[in-house]
Amino acid sequence: MSRLIALLPGDGIGPEVVAAARVVLDAVAETFGHDFEFRDGLVGGCAIEATGEALPAATLELCLASEGVLLGAVGGPQWSDPAAPVRPEQGLLALRRALGVYANLRPVATHPALYGASPLKEHLLEGVDILFVRELTGGIYFGAKQRDADGASDVCSYSREEIERVLRLGFELARKRNGRLTSVDKANVLETSRLWREIATRMGRDEFPDVRLEHALVDAAAMQLIQDPRRFDVVVTENMFGDILTDEASVITGSIGMLPSASLAQSGPGLYEPIHGSAPDIAGQGIANPCGTILSAAMLLRHSLGLEDEASAVEQAVQDTVVRGIGTPDVAGRERAVTTQQVAAAVAAALGTRSPARAIA
Ligand code: NAD
Repeated sequence: MSRLIALLPGDGIGPEVVAAARVVLDAVAETFGHDFEFRDGLVGGCAIEATGEALPAATLELCLASEGVLLGAVGGPQWSDPAAPVRPEQGLLALRRALGVYANLRPVATHPALYGASPLKEHLLEGVDILFVRELTGGIYFGAKQRDADGASDVCSYSREEIERVLRLGFELARKRNGRLTSVDKANVLETSRLWREIATRMGRDEFPDVRLEHALVDAAAMQLIQDPRRFDVVVTENMFGDILTDEASVITGSIGMLPSASLAQSGPGLYEPIHGSAPDIAGQGIANPCGTILSAAMLLRHSLGLEDEASAVEQAVQDTVVRGIGTPDVAGRERAVTTQQVAAAVAAALGTRSPARAIA
């Protein structure tokens, strides 16, 4: 039976990187003997142009019927008027809400071949392997907003249940990795953070005594991420802190184009996307780094389709490709760089040479 994967290329470089990931998923299907069915949907600026809506009903229907959704990116200068009634990012926010994806997973790992592209010194980069778990549907981004002539306010609120479910995921992932969890908050100032810390402490004591839990204030964590990134393993935090810390962490690896993400719901399809935006400055040139999207597809295989071996094989194939110096200009430099499609082809080829089926053939 075929397994339905929704592809939402979006805007800017989105279609280029999603097409590249599709090449790799096709190679996974062929080498591991799976039947994936891909269907495209509109989201973001291209959806506004075609239908007037950032998330057309047909796209949402497709996503809800699928096992996993792979999204490129949305947005661009032509839709950037803050006063416009419909904006591309509304499509993304609506999709996250409709799928109920409450947790955003962002792995940040360094690659020796890319140390030179990182702004940090090499000795700080060795062995960095962090998994951020960011709460995605609560907090200040979703609280009541108010504005009048004399001021404005954004309410930050969290329910006990919202905090518990994301912390539980953080603890479980920490247990599967190295048994270390850092919970980031601002408990010296914010009431929501005091509740967060209280719940984390209780869960650590009662449900996950085998996980070493540490609390960090967000300002200190932001500094430590640069001074000593290796000290972190799994990091769990609320929505806005996670948004900022993951962007900070992304520069450690040397290219924003390398990093994937997964947004998971309690049930139903997950949403997978690279962490970068639509990069209008390089769109249409065939030079966008597709690795973040390819690695997002690997996370889709793991978390939505339950294909752990296939996911690991894709991750290893990306690693092999990077080690061989095959990359777009952001990671390989202008002189040696190849195109987006050539990177995808190299990853697909590396996958083929490593797969058990090919080895036997
Ligand atoms: P961006 O991530 O698109 O680009 C930042 C810089 O990184 C640019 O110089 C770009 O060329 C480079 N870059 C990004 N992805 C790359 C890749 N795969 N390979 C090589 N280089 C890459 O962020 P921005 O410029 O702030 O935003 C551009 C547009 O994207 C805006 O409209 C913004 O709203 C939107 N955006 C969308 C998302 C999303 O869809 N999830 C996220 C962030 C920004």
